[in-house]
Amino acid sequence: MSALKWGLIGASDIAATRVIDAIRSSGGHIEGVVSGSAGRADDFAAQHGLHFATTDLDELLGWDIDAVYISSTNDKHYDQACRALRAGKHVLCEKPLALDPAEAEAMVALAEELGLVLAANHHLPGSPLHAKVRELVAEGAIGAVLSAKVAHAVLLPQRLRGWRLGQSTPGSGVILDITCHDASVLNPLLGTPVAVAAVAVQQADWNTGGQADAAMTVIRYEQKDRPPVLAQTHDSFTVGFADTSLEVHGTAGTIRVIDAMTQDTKGQVLLTTEAGTRDIDVDCTDDLYVIGLRAFAAAVEGTGTPTASGRDGLMALKVAIAAQESAMTGLTVPIN
Ligand code: NDP
Repeated sequence: MSALKWGLIGASDIAATRVIDAIRSSGGHIEGVVSGSAGRADDFAAQHGLHFATTDLDELLGWDIDAVYISSTNDKHYDQACRALRAGKHVLCEKPLALDPAEAEAMVALAEELGLVLAANHHLPGSPLHAKVRELVAEGAIGAVLSAKVAHAVLLPQRLRGWRLGQSTPGSGVILDITCHDASVLNPLLGTPVAVAAVAVQQADWNTGGQADAAMTVIRYEQKDRPPVLAQTHDSFTVGFADTSLEVHGTAGTIRVIDAMTQDTKGQVLLTTEAGTRDIDVDCTDDLYVIGLRAFAAAVEGTGTPTASGRDGLMALKVAIAAQESAMTGLTVPIN
């Protein structure tokens, strides 16, 4: 297949720091960018060697492109994705797919109706570390799964302390930003999320935006003919000196992944059973975003599936929205 031709929707940090390189490394060609500001669009295009820059989404959608990558702020994803799909473009959309599951559901339905690929740019489920965990669980290495714990507490870099913290910014806060990523890893591993309870707080003195910057969440998962599974997540913008990790506990063992939730592939998988603890060999050479972009290109070509499909993005959003509602109401929130 010839190289996918891309348009970028959003002159964002994540496009600049990760995804432009990943598109190019996966064989794609980027035509240009649309931004809300002409100056930012021009600067971004110049910095990244793009031919075109515009402030008009319809102009970008009229270009000779196959796919768009959406990395605008979260409140814009739904409208931009639907417009791109209706213009016949495949869509790789940043997480969270939308601000509300009904919108994400509509995006998924529209892509299916039009026969286009819609994927969520969740970089973690495609990680070889998480693929190995799913493989170990599926082959029964730890017996029946009982519980899982995600440590995803980080210090939000100074450059990202903008819209994520503002209470008036739709789609802000740690839960939509990080818990959503955790769910993208836990959902394919543990089954169907059916209920969520969360507590969220504001901790950092530099967080003057008013949004929650730390949250702990418990998710109940169900799977046919299996006991229910409990998963617990700790997500934070405020913790500067901690590693990220994933633990999965089963009736016959525990899997522990060190550096499980970062943007880089490097990490370690440890399996503990009656026989002791051993280091599981995992090839961590490929960049996580390149893995995602390659999978997206294969899905467009019809030879593969995205790392996180639109439906996977929808399910991750459902967990995050339920966590957000639980944190606000103090109630356990069911997921339909
Ligand atoms: P940014 O704040 O860098 O960009 C988001 C939007 O903010 C841009 O589209 C841009 O609007 C606007 N913007 C950027 N810089 C400026 C500026 N200096 N002044 C005014 N406006 C500006 O966000 P992120 O890159 O951190 O996040 C973008 C999306 O990507 C979010 O949905 C986020 O959840 C997701 N994300 C995903 C990650 C992953 O690993 N999958 C990691 C990080 C983020 P315009 O386009 O109009 O110029």
